[in-house]
Amino acid sequence: MELLDKIYNSGVVGVGGAGFPTHIKLNCQVEYLIINSAECEPLLEVDKYLMRQRSNQIIIAIEKMAESVKAEHMIIALKSKYKEEIKSLQNAIDDLKSNVKIHTFENFYPAGDEQVMVYEVTKRVIPAGGIPLDVGVVVNNVATVVNIYDAINDNPVVDKYLTVVGEVKEPKFLKAPIGLAVSEALKYCGGVVREDYKIILGGPMMGKIIDKEDAKTTYITKTLGSLIVIPADHYMVKRKLKPITQIINQARTACIQCKMCTDMCPRNLMGHQLRPHKIMRAMGAGVKNKDTLMEALICSECGVCELYACPMGLSPRLVNAFIKNELRNNGVRYDRKPLNEVNQLREYRKVPVSRLISRLDLNIYKDTKLGEIENIKAQKVYIPLSQHIGKPASPVVKVGDIVEKGQLIGKIELGTLGANIHASISGKVCEVGEYIAIMKDSEVNQ
Ligand code: SF4
Ligand code: SF4
Repeated sequence: MELLDKIYNSGVVGVGGAGFPTHIKLNCQVEYLIINSAECEPLLEVDKYLMRQRSNQIIIAIEKMAESVKAEHMIIALKSKYKEEIKSLQNAIDDLKSNVKIHTFENFYPAGDEQVMVYEVTKRVIPAGGIPLDVGVVVNNVATVVNIYDAINDNPVVDKYLTVVGEVKEPKFLKAPIGLAVSEALKYCGGVVREDYKIILGGPMMGKIIDKEDAKTTYITKTLGSLIVIPADHYMVKRKLKPITQIINQARTACIQCKMCTDMCPRNLMGHQLRPHKIMRAMGAGVKNKDTLMEALICSECGVCELYACPMGLSPRLVNAFIKNELRNNGVRYDRKPLNEVNQLREYRKVPVSRLISRLDLNIYKDTKLGEIENIKAQKVYIPLSQHIGKPASPVVKVGDIVEKGQLIGKIELGTLGANIHASISGKVCEVGEYIAIMKDSEVNQ
C-alpha cells in the first residue's frame, strides 16, 4: 500500500499545529523535506524524548516520506543545544546509511515557526499568507514523523505523548490515550499541589489557558503536547485572559507607539508587511483602515510582541487574533503583497529562550527533571470527532458496540479535508455525538 494511503488510514495529522491532515500535506512534490524538531516553546520536552528514544524509526520514516514527495534534501532542523538528541539521530543516520542531514541553530523563539524554520534552513522566504510549498518545501513535526512510522506499520494514532509540568506533585512524560480527560492525566502526576490553579494546554506562548473546573471536560487530542499547571494568579494568567474590551481600551490609552512590537516581530523581520504598532494605533483610534487591519491576517500569534517586546504590557497579539477572527467570519482573505527585504538586524533580534522564560515568570519550572514515560491505562475516554483542520469524521460505530483499541470509529472520505479517528481503548461505546465515549468493559459491568 502507498505511504499516503497508510497515513490516511491511520488518521495522522500535524501534531505541532492545528492538526492539518498529513496525507493531504504530503501529497506534493518538493525539493526540501524539513523535519521540525526545534520544540521551540519553553518547558516542552516530548520531541526531545522521541528523538532520543525512537531515532532509528524517525530516520526510516523520513526516508519513506522523502521518496513519496521526491525530495532532494531531507533535513532535521533543531537547536544546537540538543546534544544528546543530535547524537542519537546521527547514530541512526550512520547505522542506516541515510542521507538525512541535521541542521542546527541557536536557542531562540520562535525557531519552530514553520516560516522562520524554512528561512533558517533554506534562506528562502515564504510569501506572507503563503505556505512552505510556495518555495518548494514541506515541513513536518518530528512527533508527526513518529506517527507516520507507526502508520507504515499499520498502527493508527491512538495515544499522545505529553509533557506535564508545573504545580503537580510529580512532573512527568505521559503516553495517554486520546480522549482521556485532562483531570485524569493530572492524577497520574500525583495531582495538583495547590488549591487555586489554571492549566495551559500546549506551550506557554501559544497555548490556551483553562480553569481547573474545565479539566474534567477537556480531553487529550492528537494535537495537544503538554499540560502546564500554574497558580491561578500567575503572570501568564493575567496577561492571557484579559477581556478584549480592556485590551482595546489599553491600546487607546497606553500605546506609546514605540514600535518595539513591530521591530521584534519575527514575521516582520523576514520582510512580511506586518506592523502591529500600526494595527494598535488603528484600533486605539477606532479607525478601521482596511489595509492596516488586513495585516493581522498574516500574524502567527507567536506572542513575541505581547509577552516579550511591549514595554507597556499591551497585547498586540490578542488584538490581531480578534481582528483575524472578525475578518475571517466576514470571508475576508489576505491579498498577497510583495515582500520587503529581510531585516539586516534579524540575527540580533532573535528572542533568547532563557530571557523569555524569565519574562514569563516560569524560571521555577525550567529545570524540572522528567523520568521515563508513563503509559496510562484509562477506564473511559471521550474522543472528539474533530481533532484536525477540515470536516469532523463521521461516526461508524453506535452506542452499545464493542470496539477494540485501534479500531476505526470515525471516518473521513478519501479526498475530503479531515482525518480518520480510532478507538484509543478497548471497551463499549456509550455515547456518540461530537465525541465518541468508550468505557472499558470492566467499568460498564459495575
Ligand atoms: S510595543 Fe506596545 S507600546 Fe510600543 S507600539 Fe507596540 S503596542 Fe504600542
Ligand atoms: S504575535 Fe506579534 S510578534 Fe508574533 S507574528 Fe503576530 S504581530 Fe508578530
